[in-house]
Amino acid sequence: MTVQEFQKLIEQIYFDQDSARGVEGTFVWFAEEVGELAKEIRRNPRQTQRLQEEFADVFAWLTTLANLLGIDLQEAAAIYASGCPKCQSTPCACELSTGGNERDLPGP
Ligand SMILES: [Zn+2]
Repeated sequence: MTVQEFQKLIEQIYFDQDSARGVEGTFVWFAEEVGELAKEIRRNPRQTQRLQEEFADVFAWLTTLANLLGIDLQEAAAIYASGCPKCQSTPCACELSTGGNERDLPGP
């Protein structure tokens, strides 16, 4: 399944409910799922099955937000197709100490 196919699937399953909840309410759910992923990362010992489920939930909620905001995730991810968006290198050659490698878009 491509990212685009996954996004379409999530839209078909949840768009009506998500639209009724709205962007801000949905963002709160997304943040809660990120918190659950954090808990699984901190679990000792880690359990792959539980981690996998939390990654799926976070990805699904992120995708839901993209659907509500009209963002095509596959298109959005394409900014990494040529390597790091800041230095255009693979692997990234930005220096951590200079604030690079923060995975944000290059400034205008
Ligand atoms: Zn870089």
